[in-house]
Amino acid sequence: HAPSSSHHKDSGSNDAEATKAAAAAAPKHEKDFYPYILIGAGTASFAAMEAIREKDPTAAILIIGNEDIGPYMRPPLSKEMWFNKSEEATENLSFKDWQGKERNIVLHGKENIESLDQDALDKIESAESGVKLLTGATVSDLNVSEQTITLGSGKTLKYGKVLLATGGVPKTLNVLKDAGEDKVTTFRSVEDFKKLHSLVKSGEKKIAIVGGGFLGSELAVAVSQYGRDKSVKVTQIFPEDGNMGLVFPRYLSKWTTSQVEQEGVVVKPKSRIASTKIVDDQVELTLESGEKVLADHVVVAVGIEANVELAKKAGLELDEIRGGVVVNAELQARRNVYCAGDMTSFHDITLGRRRVEHYDNAILGGRVAGQNMASDNLHKTYKHQSMFWSDLGPHIGYEAVGILDSKLSTVSIWTKKPTVTAADATTEDAGKKEDSKAETATSTASEKEGKRERATATPLPAEAVKVEDKEKYNKGLVLYLKDKRIVGLLMWNNFGKVEDARKILGQVYDTEKVEALVKPFGIHED
Ligand code: FAD
Ligand code: NAD
Ligand code: NAD
Repeated sequence: HAPSSSHHKDSGSNDAEATKAAAAAAPKHEKDFYPYILIGAGTASFAAMEAIREKDPTAAILIIGNEDIGPYMRPPLSKEMWFNKSEEATENLSFKDWQGKERNIVLHGKENIESLDQDALDKIESAESGVKLLTGATVSDLNVSEQTITLGSGKTLKYGKVLLATGGVPKTLNVLKDAGEDKVTTFRSVEDFKKLHSLVKSGEKKIAIVGGGFLGSELAVAVSQYGRDKSVKVTQIFPEDGNMGLVFPRYLSKWTTSQVEQEGVVVKPKSRIASTKIVDDQVELTLESGEKVLADHVVVAVGIEANVELAKKAGLELDEIRGGVVVNAELQARRNVYCAGDMTSFHDITLGRRRVEHYDNAILGGRVAGQNMASDNLHKTYKHQSMFWSDLGPHIGYEAVGILDSKLSTVSIWTKKPTVTAADATTEDAGKKEDSKAETATSTASEKEGKRERATATPLPAEAVKVEDKEKYNKGLVLYLKDKRIVGLLMWNNFGKVEDARKILGQVYDTEKVEALVKPFGIHED
């Protein structure tokens, strides 16, 4: 598909000459010195590595990760990997993408990366040009004055530039402690996927998924679909009113919940776990309502915390509000220290300070960090807006840019009748004003086009939205507003519009111009 995501290459035109010149002058380095050390063998490090190599083709780069395998895509672990037709594909970590193309989740080909263990690392006399990947190794200290890192083994290495890309650590819930480690797991890695997959594969299992956000919702749908013929029962428990309740406007969250239920998931919204115990080798979850849910296994998907352990010890500045390490718009925390991906609180020059926990942000941020690391004079700002996407069963797929927060005012435009232009703001007064203007504008538009119904005047009560019409939320656009500006766009079952969304992000929302604004999104073209 036309890449709506952003892994385009934007390297300069002098690359070929730079390659030759650099190759001729590939320096010899002192023992245990690496010009580039990337901490965390994840998505952001992978993208940084590619960017460094483009600018500095003979660079000696060392990537250090504490998982057993090198950088891989996490997104298929809660989606496509569950839809494989053969167990062999799953064993090989392959999946079919939405176009039917066979792919592997591992990001690097074998050819250009040399995998090392710690013994092999010890034996290197002088880092040569090329990328080395040390897996199964934790970086336990970073000294930004000495420009050194220390591995768990005690070995110290010197760096020229370092990237911190340590991602996030899944949160857990204290109330689940009594169920023991065996039966309660978080879900982030290939190892977690393998564990859950092999458990579900044997069939006849009850799986409880705690959390109604991105991970909990995707996984509930995927596991339910995979386990349909295997008598697997999935129950999803979370405190919000509906799936994705912190992200989607209320009516859309409610409709999404109905779709998740159609996939066979028993959804328990507005629910918290009060206590947990083991009964006959199963976990018994007692909800605050008194209701009991029995599960063979519980998956906790209640968000992540930015992994800042190393950064904290190193004395880097942390973002007390959003979590993560504070960097500037060039993704620099200190001289020669860069950060990218989930653990980064960066200055977005359009939307202000942010921390983003999505794949494309890790790719784009990693890329900018890598480019800046490889060039002392570039000072590139991270201003290209990242996108994110999700799929939830056969009727829901979306792409988005910017800030999607259900507390913000929203304006929605949908294809099919009865179309809802829902002002779903729950809190802000300013938002209410914006909503009523939106209503006027959309009413005008509907008169002209004859395609949309009159907009509703007040925020829709959730009950007013009947959910039986599958076509209702077929294709649409939701604008998220803050201080009268468009800060987020959700393209619902409407792919390939991310570039158009990027153009609008940050603009003042003007009801008079709403028609022209939404035209590129082709909501009414089917
Ligand atoms: P990570 O990919 O987590 O990489 C960090 C790595 O650093 C980890 O391997 C970690 O073990 C390692 N590490 C940490 N500390 C140390 C240390 N001290 N020493 C050595 N190694 C260390 N986003 C989307 O946009 N769309 C999706 O559909 C989507 N699906 C997802 C599905 C799942 C199941 C998950 C878990 C996430 C999904 N995401 C999705 C989010 C996306 O995968 C993350 O935003 C992205 O992986 C972040 O990349 P990162 O490089 O910052 O961190
Ligand atoms: P999240 O932040 O999206 O959702 C957190 C959820 O935790 C909330 O929706 C809430 O329902 C739940 N929660 C919080 N406290 C709770 C409590 N006491 N009891 C029950 N539930 C509680 O995080 P996630 O869904 O766990 O996802 C983990 C990470 O993976 C995030 O960084 C996410 O962005 C990423 N991810 C992204 C995608 C995607 O972009 N498509 C897909 C999967 C995972
Ligand atoms: P993709 O190939 O664009 O990859 C998805 C992510 O992987 C992107 O964010 C990108 O940054 C990253 N990526 C891709 N190749 C990379 C590389 N060589 N190096 C580093 N990072 C790389 O898309 P996909 O995996 O085929 O599917 C997910 C995308 O497809 C989403 O954008 C989703 O919304 C879209 N999608 C479209 C439809 C449709 O009907 N058009 C349906 C489902 C999904």
